[in-house]
Amino acid sequence: MKGRALRAPKGTRDLLPPATGLWAAVEAEVHRIFALYGYREIRTPILEETELFARGVGEATDIVGKEMYTFTDRGGRSLTLRPESTAAVCRAYVEHGMQTLPQPVRLYYLGPQFRYERPQRGRYRQFHQIGAELLGGRGPASDVEILLLLVAFLRRLGFAELTVLLNTVGDAPSRAAYRAALLAYLEPRAAELGEESRRRLGTNPLRILDSKDPAEQELLAAAPRLADHLTPASREHFAAVRAHLDRLGVAYRVEPRLVRGLDYYTNTVFEVVSGDLGAQNAICGGGAYEGLVEELGGPPTYAVGFAIGADRLLEVLPAGSPLRAPGRHRGPVLLAAAGRLPESGDGVSPLTPIAERLRSEGVPVVETGARAPRLFQLAEQLGAPALAFVGEEELARGELSLRELGSREQTRLPFAEAADRLRRYYEEQP
Ligand code: ATP
Ligand code: MG
Repeated sequence: MKGRALRAPKGTRDLLPPATGLWAAVEAEVHRIFALYGYREIRTPILEETELFARGVGEATDIVGKEMYTFTDRGGRSLTLRPESTAAVCRAYVEHGMQTLPQPVRLYYLGPQFRYERPQRGRYRQFHQIGAELLGGRGPASDVEILLLLVAFLRRLGFAELTVLLNTVGDAPSRAAYRAALLAYLEPRAAELGEESRRRLGTNPLRILDSKDPAEQELLAAAPRLADHLTPASREHFAAVRAHLDRLGVAYRVEPRLVRGLDYYTNTVFEVVSGDLGAQNAICGGGAYEGLVEELGGPPTYAVGFAIGADRLLEVLPAGSPLRAPGRHRGPVLLAAAGRLPESGDGVSPLTPIAERLRSEGVPVVETGARAPRLFQLAEQLGAPALAFVGEEELARGELSLRELGSREQTRLPFAEAADRLRRYYEEQP
C-alpha cells in the first residue's frame, strides 16, 4: 500500500447507487412538476463574487457572518462557493436584463450549496437545494402561486402530513417599528439572553425570535408581537394571502414567531417542517423579497421563492412514495449462457452481439458469466427484472429464453418478442 487512504472532506459525502437512483427520480419529478407551473430551469455558477452574498444575503446573517467558503483566487478576486442560490438568480436576472421580458419570470434551480456548519444529521457542508423564484410578480397572488407549486411538488412525492408554517415579517416600515419595540423590551433584559442573542441585539434583533433556547423562549413569549406593528398595507397583504389559500384549500398554520434567517425577506415568509427529522426539521424555507433585485442593481421588483433542502427531503421521503416504486429503479437484465456456447475463435463472447442488439432496442443489459445460485443473488442485488439465457439452440434459432424474477416462469421467444417483453419493464412509470 502506498500512502494513507483518503476520505471525503468533513461535512461532505459521496452519494452512491442505489441512493443516486432515488435522487435522480426526485430530480426528474422537479423538472416535471415545476414545468407544469411554467417554471424553467436556471443554472448559475457554483462560485460567485463574495460581494454578491455580502450584499444580497446580508452581513448580519449567520451565512455571511460565519458559514461561507470564501477564498482569494489566483487573480486576487474574493470568491465564495454559493451558500444559497436566490442572490445568484437575482444577479442573473439583472445581468441578463430579464426585467424586459414578459413578467413575471419563473425560474427554478437544483444543485449543491456550501456552508461551513457543524455537521450532524440533516446538516452538511455540501448540501443540495431545489428552489423556485418568481420575479416581477404582483404581491399576494404570486406568494400563493409559489406555495401551490411547493405543495403540489411535495404531495406528488408522497408527503401527506407536512404542514406549511406561514407568517409575515411585514414591509420595511413595519419591521423598523417592530425592531424598536423589540429592542425596548429586550435591552433591559439583555442579561437573561445568551451570548449569541446578545450579539444579535446590535445586528439583527428579529433573529432572536428564532432562538431554540428554552429560557430565551420563555422570555420571548411575553415580548411584543410583530403582528401588532404591521402597517395597514402589510396587514392587508397577509390577509389576502391567507384568504387565497383558504379558498384553494391549502392547509397551513400561522406561526407568529417564524422569522427567516436571511435579511431579504419582506411580508410573507414560510417554512415546511417534518416531524421525522429531529432538531434539523426544516425541509423548506421561503418567502417574498421586495428589495433584493434593487439591492443588486436592478429595478424595484416584487419576488417570491423557496428553497427545499434535498438531503433532508430524501431522508424523510415516505416509504410509500411513488418515487420508490420498483418500476423506477430496475437494474439491467442479466444475459447469461446456458451451457457451453461455441467459441468464435477471436475471444469475443457470442453473448456480446446479442447484448448490443438488446441495448439498441432500449433494454438495459449486462452480460454475466455467473452461474446459479450466484446468478440469482446477482439479479437480486442489481434489481434485475429478468434473466435472459442463450444456449446453443437459442443461438441457432435467434431466440432468447427469459426467466422473469417475479413470476419465475421461463419462456423461449423469438428475439424481437423477447426484446419487446423486456423493454416493457422499463417503460411502466407509476
Ligand atoms: P436551518 O434552520 O436548518 O439552518 P436555514 O434557515 O439555514 O435552515 P435556508 O437557508 O432557508 O435554511 O435553506 C432552505 C433549506 O435548506 C432548509 O430548510 C434545509 O432543509 C436546507 N438546509 C439548510 N442548511 C443545510 C445544511 N447545512 N445541510 C442540509 N440542509 C440544509
Ligand atoms: Mg442554517
